[in-house]
Amino acid sequence: MSASSTESALEDVSVSTLKGVGDAMAAKLATLGIFTLQDVLFHLPFRYQDRTRLRRIGELRPGDEGVIEAEVALSEVVQRQRRSLLVRVSDGTGSLTLRFFHFSAKQSQQFTRGTMLQCFGEVRRGPGMLEMVHPEYRLASQGAALQNTLTPFYPATDGVQQGTLRKLSDQALVLLHRQRLQELIPPQLLNDLGLPDLVTALQTVHRPPPEASIADLMDGIHPAHRRLAIEELVSHRLALRQLRDQHQTHQAPQLPAQSDIAAKLRASLAFALTGAQARVLDEVLVDMAKAEPMLRLVQGDVGAGKTVVAALAASHAVEAGYQVAFMAPTEILAEQHLLNFCQWFEPLGISVGWLSGKLKASDRRSMIEAVAMGQVRIVVGTHALFQNDVEFENLGLAIVDEQHRFGVHQRLALRNKGAKNDVLPHQLIMTATPIPRTLAMTAYADLDVSVIDELPPGRKPVTTVALEAQRRGDVVQRVGAATAEGRQVYWVCTLIEESEHLQAEAAEDTADALADALPGHRVGLVHGRMKPKEKDEVMARFKAAEIDVLVATTVIEVGVDVPNASLMIIENAERLGLSQLHQLRGRVGRGSAQSSCILLYHGPLSKTARQRIGIMRETNDGFVIAERDLEIRGAGEVLGTRQTGVAEFRIAQLGRDDDLLDVVGDVADELAATHPSAVDKLIRRWIGEGKQDYGGV
Ligand code: ADP
Ligand code: MG
Repeated sequence: MSASSTESALEDVSVSTLKGVGDAMAAKLATLGIFTLQDVLFHLPFRYQDRTRLRRIGELRPGDEGVIEAEVALSEVVQRQRRSLLVRVSDGTGSLTLRFFHFSAKQSQQFTRGTMLQCFGEVRRGPGMLEMVHPEYRLASQGAALQNTLTPFYPATDGVQQGTLRKLSDQALVLLHRQRLQELIPPQLLNDLGLPDLVTALQTVHRPPPEASIADLMDGIHPAHRRLAIEELVSHRLALRQLRDQHQTHQAPQLPAQSDIAAKLRASLAFALTGAQARVLDEVLVDMAKAEPMLRLVQGDVGAGKTVVAALAASHAVEAGYQVAFMAPTEILAEQHLLNFCQWFEPLGISVGWLSGKLKASDRRSMIEAVAMGQVRIVVGTHALFQNDVEFENLGLAIVDEQHRFGVHQRLALRNKGAKNDVLPHQLIMTATPIPRTLAMTAYADLDVSVIDELPPGRKPVTTVALEAQRRGDVVQRVGAATAEGRQVYWVCTLIEESEHLQAEAAEDTADALADALPGHRVGLVHGRMKPKEKDEVMARFKAAEIDVLVATTVIEVGVDVPNASLMIIENAERLGLSQLHQLRGRVGRGSAQSSCILLYHGPLSKTARQRIGIMRETNDGFVIAERDLEIRGAGEVLGTRQTGVAEFRIAQLGRDDDLLDVVGDVADELAATHPSAVDKLIRRWIGEGKQDYGGV
């Protein structure tokens, strides 16, 4: 360490200043995310060994690890399946066998009767008695080798051994004790929570005292871990709050709460809004009437009726002379919205534009021009909406559907698109994936949340069964029985390949086979390779009950609405994720008949596939499904944000640390109120500079 670097805070000191770290090692450490001394300290062990004390052989159980000191009773080389050296040792409380498969002649001669050994290893059940396979050992005469602390094992990588990581953390801990990592949580707060200070917590997780609970340490629930997790979660909470405050310093167009267009649209609907829809719409309108930009997430299970709420919100923006952008993550979903919006708005004389990646270049150019000139008031589309050359005349409202499938940065891009002279558009985000509370409070604390917690009247829970693919014959019979009652059926073909071509082929084959197996049935086909017009025609015929069985790829995952369809078969269900299965299943159960969903699968099922299918059978509740999905897959994947780093923590773990979230809120409040100077430091420590945009999208 040079004299000057000891002056700086550890977050600023490069790991290269440590002994044993040259350029090559620094590059390898970088792959572990270790750049600074602080990173060394935040790189926590995932496992510990207890080499602090001697264990009695008599108290050891299979699976235990420990140090024993024992006397050699017998040593022999045996030749069974493999040549091995067996050394029987005992310590007065019991005996066990040390088993070596690789050994030199010299080694085998070391173990003469009466020799005292100190061994470390994992105990397992052997043929006659417990044994340690290839234990570490030394002659007891060389002196005891017991450690003062539990031995840590770190996540490592090629060329970075445990020994290296231990030496680095040793050095970093010495520097830590010179108070170079500032305590940012007030001591009295820590006291109230019964948690250790930062230095103690770090010292404890890296070099736990002998009496610490290894089980708690390995589970990450030791008070030392909780202390660190709380600080990290508090930092994220404060960062999101800051972003939100920044967001609210921008201006937004104040949109009137009265709108003729909305009134006309409502009058033209075939249904009345549910109570939940009306309430959520009101919440949106209150937000949009303010001069600061709305940032609202609308959650509503599949089929809850989010689209019409979006359309009514859009009416208010259009009425006030602003443009609306409505973005969906897939072509088919965007097309469905386009269809709905055209039906609703064109009779009112409002033009709806369309921007997707599949537009012909010339069509795209003219649409972009119409949007820039303001000739188009509402534009529906995919991510094509936020490409660089798309400019709005005056965007007042950006609606993003199925938000979790967009990269977070795409959402940011759309928002910034509308930014003009410090004026931001209002933003309405809609998702059928309820964000579990734990995530909402950490990754989405900057959003206001509305929940459409009521389905339109007449929806019935769908009965779900899982069948092995061999039972296909029985399933075809069920299809026949359903159509005999005048019901319609979806048969969904899925393939593991993303290739639309292969999917289309599989769907064609299935349609042919079903037409053969079900004489007199009208079998339709819809897949992603068809032209939008062809798809629409087929869908229209299905809706008009001119098709009995609709074979489809996952293109029908979203938006499709045919209440008379009461049976859905999903092939290769084991390959689909929970939210996709839930979305698909949401196509049935929309009419008065009892609906069913049959999940066809190929065994044997992986553990997670079995869990997923089990959950689908148990519940129709999108919220429960989302929570279980989070448990199975982890937050990053559920949100589609793995790459963007949202909700990725260094130490905290959603799920494990959920019970801390209330405390986290309190600590964040307290810090913001009484220790404002700690706020920026915490954010900098845990989140760094460059990433500050992440939560504001
Ligand atoms: P999601 O919330 O999944 O996006 P949609 O907006 O697609 O749901 O609505 C699902 C279906 O329910 C659509 O056919 C829509 O017209 C219909 N719908 C929406 N609101 C109501 C309501 N209040 N009463 C009856 N049907 C409704
Ligand atoms: Mg929808």
